[in-house]
This record gives sequence, C-alpha cells and structure tokens, in this order.
Amino acid sequence: PNIKPVTAPNTARSDALFERAKKLIPGGVNSPVRAFKAVGGTPRFVQRAQGAYFWDADGQRYIDYIGSWGPMILGHGHPTVVEAVQKAVLEGFSYGAPTEREVELAEEIVKLLPSIEMLRLVSSGTEATMSVIRLARGATGRSKIIKFEGCYHGHSDALLVKAGSGLATFGSPTSAGVPPEVVQHTLVLEYNHIAQLEEAFSLHGKDIACLMIEPIAGNMNFVRASIPFMKRCRELCTQYGALLVFDEVMTGFRVALGGAQSLYAQSIPGFKPDMTALGKVIGGGMPMAAFGGTRAVMELLAPLGSVYQAGTLSGNPVATACGLATLREIQKPGFYDALGARTRDLVQGLTQAAAQAGVPFCGDSEGGMFGFFLLGQLPQNYATVMTTDGPAFNRFYHAMLAGGVYYAPALYEAGFVSAAHSAQDIAETVSVARDAFNSLST
Ligand code: PLP
Repeated sequence: PNIKPVTAPNTARSDALFERAKKLIPGGVNSPVRAFKAVGGTPRFVQRAQGAYFWDADGQRYIDYIGSWGPMILGHGHPTVVEAVQKAVLEGFSYGAPTEREVELAEEIVKLLPSIEMLRLVSSGTEATMSVIRLARGATGRSKIIKFEGCYHGHSDALLVKAGSGLATFGSPTSAGVPPEVVQHTLVLEYNHIAQLEEAFSLHGKDIACLMIEPIAGNMNFVRASIPFMKRCRELCTQYGALLVFDEVMTGFRVALGGAQSLYAQSIPGFKPDMTALGKVIGGGMPMAAFGGTRAVMELLAPLGSVYQAGTLSGNPVATACGLATLREIQKPGFYDALGARTRDLVQGLTQAAAQAGVPFCGDSEGGMFGFFLLGQLPQNYATVMTTDGPAFNRFYHAMLAGGVYYAPALYEAGFVSAAHSAQDIAETVSVARDAFNSLST
C-alpha cells in the first residue's frame, strides 16, 4: 500500500484480454502460475518478444527474467534458431515417423551428459518424469518412490503429493482428483535432511524403485541440494538398488553445459545419476523434453522391452530443429562463463541495493538460473522458503513490474537470465530494484 509505482502501468488491453480469457479458459490461463493469483493484479498478455525483452498488449516493454520458465537461454528470437525453425517448418510440421534430426539431437545430448547412454524424446517435462517413474518401477519391480517437499516434477498423479504424517506413512494428494491410492507409494521427504533420508531407506529401502530430485530446486525459488546430502542420496540408492533420478528439466543446460550433475561430479568423485529427465532448454522454446540413462534400463522401454511409453508428437521435427540449434549455440566457447557472470552481477546488484535500503535479502545463482529471497539467509528447504514475507514480496513484485522488470509472480519460483541480457539490462534492473527496495523499507 505504501508503495509508489515507478511508472504508472497501463494495463487496459491486458485487462480486457484477461476478462475475455476468463470466460473460456479456467482462470484465464493455460497454466496456473501465469494468472498472477499469488501477487494479485492483471497478468501481462504478451504481444511479442525479442532478445531479453517482451512487449505486452499495451505496448510496454519488460526485461524478461522468466524466458518461458527456462527454455529461452539464448533470449527470444535468436537469428540462428529462427532460421533453423523456418527451414524445418517448410519441410513439414510433423510426420509421426523417425527423422535424422531426432538422432542428431540424441547424439548431442548423449555427448554432453555422460550419464545418459540412451534417451527418448517426449513433449513435456511432465511426460519425461512420469515415464522415468514407470521405467524405474519396471526395471526394479518395486512400487515406491521418494520425492522431496518443494520439488516439482510436473503434474502427473503420483507426483502431486505432499508429506504424510510420518515416515511410516506415505504422502497425501495435493490436488483434487488424485485418489489417495495413487500416491500411496510416494514418500515425501524434507530436502537436505540426511537423517530423514537414512531413516526412510532403512524403513522402506527394499521397496524403493527410485529417488527423484531437483538437484538445484527451482520450484522452491533456488535451493541447492548440499554436497553431503547428494552424496548420501547416491550412496543409499546404490546400496538399496534404487535408481537415482535427476530431474534436470529446469537445470539441464541451464546451470552448466553438463547440467547440475556435472557440478556434483566436481565434488563427489565418480558421481552420476542413473536416470535424468530433461526439458525446457533442449527444446529452445518448442515442446520438447527427454528422459534417459543407462542402456540396461532404457532398453526396457517398448518396443524393445515391456515398459510402455509413446507419443504422437514425440521428436517433433520443428521442435528438434529448434532444440538442436539452441544446443549448438550454447556449446560455443565461453558461453556459460559469460552467462554465469551476468547472472551473478544481477544477484550481486540486487543484494547491494537491498542492503542500502536495509531490506533483508539474499540470493544465489548458477549459470543462467537464479533465485532471491526477502530473508537474511539462504533457505535449505521448502518450509524455510515459505517463511518469506509474502505481502512484502508482492509489493516488491509490483514495483518491479511497474518499472518494466518481469520475473515469476510467485516467491517460490526461480528466475532466468539469457545470453541476450546485456550489462545495461542488469544495471536497469538494479536501478528499478533500488527504488522498489526503498519503497519497501519506508
Ligand atoms: N520438472 C521440473 C524441475 C520443472 O521445473 C517442470 C516445469 O516447470 C517440470 C518437471 C514439468 O515440465 P513441463 O511443464 O514441461 O511439463
């Protein structure tokens, strides 16, 4: 309430479109977080995007730190990617038959992520994680899975679950429409809690098909799995014969060329997950995702093996063209050094601006992914993330939005910097934040 917008936002056209959308599309959106429910106000309807910016229906420009929730690592409309997509479109949209580009994309991914010997392309991260779980269950003949509170792995039934009342009990659904029986095999544990992890394995280890984890959890803003915690995850999975599944839908090719798994391998000798789910960057903004891992497990998939999985649009030729062009750009020398430095500059600039205004603040980043909290210390788990002052976050959010800076409209989502974000964009963002922090502290 005591915040003065940096500029008065004009949302007349977005308001009108939102009203029209709400008549036909539940909440006016095709994915809930877009509705601005947590922060209030009108979601901006996007007209077009280029580089680090998008323009809304009212013609206002925003510096975009969402980048389609992760895929747009090169920024919007990168010329090489646009050219590849244009060429692909002229050759046909979809065949439902194999293509050379699918093989090329698979070769590229396998080259960059040594833990993946074989993979399959799908169209969304949800499909990737859902299929990995089926495969892990098929491979082990076990039913139970472990996930962690605050990690999001898409919206398949078995993963829409929160912690039960104790370790001996399994989770309860977080969505209506998910029968309790469907999540009765999902054990939900606290992120970064080694003792609880050990207890869960000692109670249920022989029944656990897989442990799925976001290695840097971007769905509780930005929380890293600690090295000792990850080491223990690996050891316990190996000891009990469960598969360690990295959900790198967000972190894959975003935090490093080798994904988050390459960062853990730097600290834990020989570290590798058994299976990995990928999405977002590998499609460069087109519907594309993948899951892969060891050959022995992947060969259990149909048509070779008995675990069924399929998709009409899987390996879509336009999406593979977009993904391949994107993956080739990010392999250019120095790409991640520059992206990482720019992202660190952003977090550092915001941290200094907050300190000057006397606002509690901390942030972290890896590659082109970042998070920040209106908290004095980086949280280690979901419960701590959620101690953030929600109303203060929302006031800050709207001040930033009014100043032309767009990031996730919820305090538990990560942010993304692209290669198109310039030093000038970062400086402009920090300058808008300075005013926003000052208005928070008055
Ligand atoms: N896994 C993670 C870590 C994600 O962040 C997401 C989406 O944000 C998903 C899975 C689901 O991917 P999709 O939205 O493509 O279904």
